[in-house]
Parts: sequence; C-alpha cells; structure tokens
Amino acid sequence: MHTEDAVGKIISITNQKGGVGKTATTVSLAACLAEFNRNVLIVDVDPQGNATTSLGIDKEEQETSSYELFTDKAKPEDCIVETRYFGIDVIPSTLDLAGAEVEVVEYDDRNYILKRALETIRDRYDYILIDCPPSLNTLTCNALTASDSVIIPLQCEFLALEGLKQLLDTIDIIRDRTNPELNVDGVLFTMYDNRTNLSAQVVENVYNNLNQKIYRTVIPRTVRLAEAPSYGMPITQYDKRSSAAQSYRDFATEVLRQNGQRPGKRKKLVRKDK
Ligand code: ATP
Ligand code: MG
Repeated sequence: MHTEDAVGKIISITNQKGGVGKTATTVSLAACLAEFNRNVLIVDVDPQGNATTSLGIDKEEQETSSYELFTDKAKPEDCIVETRYFGIDVIPSTLDLAGAEVEVVEYDDRNYILKRALETIRDRYDYILIDCPPSLNTLTCNALTASDSVIIPLQCEFLALEGLKQLLDTIDIIRDRTNPELNVDGVLFTMYDNRTNLSAQVVENVYNNLNQKIYRTVIPRTVRLAEAPSYGMPITQYDKRSSAAQSYRDFATEVLRQNGQRPGKRKKLVRKDK
C-alpha cells in the first residue's frame, strides 16, 4: 500500500567514515516521514545491523535478510519485515551479510544486485532509505548504484571536510561507472555541540568550501539520541518532544519540500500487536 504521491524515491544515507550518525539519521528520518504519513522502507546493508536493532527487530530471529537478497536466495518482497511502527518496514541485516561480499565477487553484475531487487518493490513505498556501512565496498557500491540520491551525514568535527571530499570523489566514480543519474541531495550536520566553538567552525568551513546543498537543520549532540537504539525505538518515540526529535522532524520537512511534498499526519504510529 502506498500513498497518493508515492515516488518510491531511493536514498542512500552514506559516509565511509564510521560513527557519524548514518544509522541515527536513517532511522530518525524514516520515523519522521512515517509520522508525516509516508510509507518508508529501510534497507539495512550494514552487516553490523544497527538500523535493524534500532527498530526493535531481533537479528537472531530473522529467517530472511539483506544477505538472502544479495545472494539471490529469497525474493526481495520476502525479505521485508514489518516493524512495530506503522509506515516503517525494514529489510534487516545480520552478520551473514559480510559473507555476501565474498559470494558475489565473481558475478559480472555484482554492483547491480540491489538495484534489480529494489526495482521490484519500490512502488510500494514513498521512500526507500538505505543505511550504508562505513566503508566503500561492494555493499556500498550496490547502495549507490541502486539510489536516486544520497544524503551525507557529517559529524561536526575537525577534518570533516577531508573525508567528505573523498566521498564526493567516490560518488563521481559511481556516476561514471554504474549510475550516471546519482544526485547528492545534501549534507546534514550531525552531533553539533553548541558548547564548543569547534562545531561552529566546522560548519562555517564546510559552508565556505563546499559546492553542495547543505540542509539548514543541524542535528544537536544529545544523549537521548545515543540512548534510543538500545530501547529499539526511534527518537520520535523514545523522547517525542526532545530537541533531537524536533530537529529530525525539521530535517524530514526539508527532505519532503525538496521533493515537492508537504508533511501529512499519520493517525496511529505504533502497532499494538508488536
Ligand atoms: P557506523 O559507521 O558504525 O555505521 P553511523 O555513522 O551509522 O556508524 P550512528 O550509529 O548513527 O553512526 O551513531 C554513532 C553513535 O553515536 C551511536 O551510538 C549513536 O547512538 C550515537 N549518536 C548518533 N547521533 C547522535 C547525536 N546527534 N548525539 C549523540 N549521539 C549520537
Ligand atoms: Mg551505522
């Protein structure tokens, strides 16, 4: 089932640097879009499976996951799991996925596996968000090849710009080789600490030196965002009125506007039977 203005837009949340807020952004954006009455699929292509766990899904219990999807052992639609939140489905990941890379290395079309799989289910969703691993490997190549666009979370820290330039070079390579249409939707500053000058300096430096869209919303560093995953809840459920939840709502509103849409309102957010 999808809403009227379903676009089935596929967005990779990516940055090869670890711990910059990719998973927090994927899960929080999905939760906010779901609140705004969009149907979202999260595809977890990180063998760490943090997005899966953050949504309260037990990795051990899954019979199908993104591993089966990558290795053609199950149909894409059979890999989808409902979460306890209306409007958010997930294709979970487990550690098995790390082995998929090795299994597909001989395939000529190994960079197109995810693209082919998602084509068959994209019209069921308004947005498909891919949570990428912190590396530039075959899994990430698959994500970027399958995507219409990327959103880049950038931690407000020293040398943030250097890593970003490397990522933008990689995106250029993907455009040359497998996905000429890949768009950079924007850079999102995460973990902004307003008690230090450093965060402000990093933001200013990136603004002055980067020819890319930068989202106006900045995500603050807050312990609530670090706590939420261990309860299997998105921040919008864990602490509905926190500054972090509100920031991600503002960011989701920017994303909708960027795609010519406006926030709606979902009546029921949580499935009582899960
Ligand atoms: P990886 O590269 O390992 O996949 P990641 O880029 O997905 O990491 P997250 O897992 O989202 O990054 O965040 C890293 C850690 O920081 C997590 O423990 C997360 O809960 C926490 N975190 C994320 N965003 C914030 C924030 N704005 N404030 C405080 N903690 C945060
Ligand atoms: Mg992650």
